[in-house]
Amino acid sequence: MISRTRHLSHVPLIAQAERHGGRTAVVDSQRFFTYNDLRDASSRVATALLAGREDLQEKRVAFLLTPGFPWVAVQWGIWRAGGVAVPLPLNSTRSEMEYFIDDTKASTLVFDAQAEPLLAPIAAVRGIRGLSCDQVLACQPAELPDIANERRAMILYTSGTTSRPKGVVTTHANITAQIMCLIEAWEWSADDHILLCLPLHHVHGIVNVVSCALWSSATCEMLPRFDANAVWERIAGGSVTLFMAVPTVYVKLIAAWDAAPPERRATLSEACTKLRLMVSGSAALPVSTLERWKEISGHTLLERYGMTEIGMALSNPLRGERVPGSVGTPLPSVEVQLVGEDGQPVAPGTPGEIEVRGPSVFAEYWGKPDAMRDAFRDGWFRTGDTAVVENGVYRILGRTNIDILKTGGNKVSALEIEETLREHPSVAECAVVGVPDPEWGQRVAAAVVLKDGGALDLPSLRAWAKEFLAAYKLPSRLLVLDALPRNAMGKVTKPAIKAMFQGAGSDN
Ligand code: AMP
Repeated sequence: MISRTRHLSHVPLIAQAERHGGRTAVVDSQRFFTYNDLRDASSRVATALLAGREDLQEKRVAFLLTPGFPWVAVQWGIWRAGGVAVPLPLNSTRSEMEYFIDDTKASTLVFDAQAEPLLAPIAAVRGIRGLSCDQVLACQPAELPDIANERRAMILYTSGTTSRPKGVVTTHANITAQIMCLIEAWEWSADDHILLCLPLHHVHGIVNVVSCALWSSATCEMLPRFDANAVWERIAGGSVTLFMAVPTVYVKLIAAWDAAPPERRATLSEACTKLRLMVSGSAALPVSTLERWKEISGHTLLERYGMTEIGMALSNPLRGERVPGSVGTPLPSVEVQLVGEDGQPVAPGTPGEIEVRGPSVFAEYWGKPDAMRDAFRDGWFRTGDTAVVENGVYRILGRTNIDILKTGGNKVSALEIEETLREHPSVAECAVVGVPDPEWGQRVAAAVVLKDGGALDLPSLRAWAKEFLAAYKLPSRLLVLDALPRNAMGKVTKPAIKAMFQGAGSDN
């Protein structure tokens, strides 16, 4: 017998938000929506999805909507109907969309007018329901099922740098734990007002920004997409208290600030003092970016480390010293250990692979039991990232298989070499990879983007770098690029860079 309820939801995030009533939950395109609006809209969506059934029983509902109020209403509607939410990435190709839809065996697709030309034909060919967002938001609400906390809630796809993306399944309990640890660590409150400029197919935007805000009775203001001037405009507006982004966003905000006339720069810098916290994560934050941002905004960015599979795991402190180049210590309820190749914990100061345990760790890789078995050791999730603890704080050395280079018997962190190369006066951006080499195992290969008017060749780079890096860490191959290849989250796609070196022959 399914227990049913008209209003109160048992999904913890929604139950929590239902207490916030008439407060402003979401702002998009100058429109304001309260928590009551969100409750009503999500019950309409849920009823439309149920179409007379009592409970979606974890059927997958994939949706593609521009960030805004309807996006949240649809996500919550799927949850309230008992479905599993599959947020699709904007700007994906048709074949990528088809992969996500087929892999999850989605029963229904929900889209806005912009996404309809792409998704409606995909739904029609497969004989699955394709619903417009306007249609589901207009439905008359009916009774909704109660949803147990342990049920599957969401599938997010990993970046899939080496194989096809894997679907990461989290339960409502996992998502609740991912939210709660950030609420506590970063002291979210109802007075907060956060600006979202990240895509909504990734844990960073969905959990750290939107879900934490709505748990706290705070306001989440959503931009449809990242635009540096639009972000500055909203910061200048003076109501934003929190900002969270990936390092490339900060790089673009710095460029926009640099391009502004002096009076405008002063206004923007002054406006930053109204914010209480600015966070960076999802990729390594170059120390040079942290320092430049501090000059502009007065904020020492709080860097944290996390992953789709685990939510956030390590964070610099809200209060207390934030160590540049480090990601701090474990968040509340998250257990972290570093292990060597033998699976045993390493001594402080020795690099090891990060393993994570706790209630925020995901439930399963969708339909991939083998990947699931490989991903855990004795109940600990093996992140595939290497880190070292120095002076009590964690420093990320990079992806074990990609960023930890083995050259001439030495292990080298690509991230460390990148930090040094960024100090070169001609280098704007860089990415270091290991390329296979019969003599060295791997050679240190650097792809760089030059500053305007900069020039660089391998001998001069090596001559400059040997003051700062041991000989075995010096790049022995160099590629000068117009831009580094990046994914939708702004992360550098290192396999693409490796392929460029392999395609370029050994002269570079
Ligand atoms: P994703 O699942 O797309 O969020 O990617 C997670 C990966 O991003 C991690 O496994 C790390 O390799 C990387 N990452 C996240 N945060 C940081 C950070 N602060 N510093 C360095 N790498 C990071």
